[in-house]
Amino acid sequence: MVNGPVRVRFCPSPTGNPHVGLVRTALFNWAFARHHGGTLVFRIEDTDAARDSEESYGQLLEAMRWLGLDWDEGPEVGGPHAPYRQSQRMDTYAEVARKLLDAGHAYHCYCTTEELDARREAARAAGKPSGYDGHCRDLSAEQKAGYEAEGRAAIVRFRMPDEPITFTDLVRGELTFTPENVPDYGIVRANGAPLYTLVNPVDDALMEITHVLRGEDLLSSTPRQVALYKALIELGVAKAVPEFGHLPYVMGEGNKKLSKRDPQASLNLYRERGFLREGLLNYLSLLGWSFSADQDVFSVEDMVATFEIADVNANPARFDLKKAESINGDHIRMMDVKAFADACTPWLRAPHAPWAPADFDQAAWEAIAPHAQTRLTVLSDITANVDFLFLPEPVFDQPSWDKAMKGDSAALLATAREKLEAADWSSADSLKEAVLAAGEVHGLKLGKAQAPVRVAVTGRTVGLPLFESLEVLGKERTLARIDAALGRLSA
Ligand code: GLU
Ligand code: ZN
Repeated sequence: MVNGPVRVRFCPSPTGNPHVGLVRTALFNWAFARHHGGTLVFRIEDTDAARDSEESYGQLLEAMRWLGLDWDEGPEVGGPHAPYRQSQRMDTYAEVARKLLDAGHAYHCYCTTEELDARREAARAAGKPSGYDGHCRDLSAEQKAGYEAEGRAAIVRFRMPDEPITFTDLVRGELTFTPENVPDYGIVRANGAPLYTLVNPVDDALMEITHVLRGEDLLSSTPRQVALYKALIELGVAKAVPEFGHLPYVMGEGNKKLSKRDPQASLNLYRERGFLREGLLNYLSLLGWSFSADQDVFSVEDMVATFEIADVNANPARFDLKKAESINGDHIRMMDVKAFADACTPWLRAPHAPWAPADFDQAAWEAIAPHAQTRLTVLSDITANVDFLFLPEPVFDQPSWDKAMKGDSAALLATAREKLEAADWSSADSLKEAVLAAGEVHGLKLGKAQAPVRVAVTGRTVGLPLFESLEVLGKERTLARIDAALGRLSA
């Protein structure tokens, strides 16, 4: 149920390249905000100086812009809760940590790593819960002074309530976590650096986030955050506990969780291969959600109109590259031809194009583009599909040549050349008739008869519709290529 204004957030850490899991989270938050006429806050969780980078920060912004996932508050946009980079909000976290300590919701923990490890081992051996055992919960002033005299540095630990935490996940329904499973946890390092466990819910509180939609990997931090939120409400820092919805895992190859380090997970890969923004968003929206039982292809606007968090499925979603490509192909088909031709431009130029820039022929491209649009699944495939038009010679694919140029291919090609020479070159139909007639002479159906012609002219057995390709290439060049192939065959 959604009552009142919606405020959601997308709050990645700027580490590494944007990956599809991150984009799926951004998309669901964006669609939820747009569906409810709410606000999307874009926050950068850059409190880990060792892992965060400016390069990654730049890539995140650029990725969101390319995807068209606009944000209402955040970097470059500003907003009432600025700054939106956590590295610029350190004073706020120190102040909240201080308040939590003063109110007894948090305490200093002096345990060393070795001590914690030893006690964890002992608890395990005794078959007891092995989380933090509360050792420093109620230290006396003398005990603290003693530890400090030893020169121990303390971390700040949040005191979990001694009662179960229950919340209703928007995707998974009611969930309860018992205290043994959610021990007191660190919120500030010994060197004073605040941790994710503190800064994330504090900012959600201060930025008045109403719904936290994020990956299932973060589910275990939710009971901690719910408890922290309740303390923040008591301290007047937070107004209400937000609702939480955990998006299902995305499984990759071999039914293993898709890791952000998996090359298949990198957003850049999809951009380089020529996925359309619409195609990629359409596909990613299906990772845990569905538009309708019988329709997989839809626009971003239709997704926004239909998206309900209650319809998100808790079961793991499977990442399927073939399906992603096929959906992208459907979106390519839906473009108007001019937009398609423009979108292909990067792949018709250096460094992708193998032809000399001067050999590119805009009129030929415009003539072939509508035929290419019916075939492609990703835009990067355009280069190999039209190279025969702009290279002086086709690039011969050896397996294609071996497959098409056997038996009496030479005789067929010679007949086809004759018929093509006499054909009407202003009509692809007439060229088809010519090859059909050549096939008849040799007892071959059209499919068999056109294969050697296609390989002679384009270098490959598969490609764009052949007769339209020949028409665009032109009579002179087509016949010259057939002659060259005949020469190769007789050599
Ligand atoms: N910065 C966290 C991450 O990227 C955000 C997690 C959350 O949405 O709470 O994993
Ligand atoms: Zn301790």
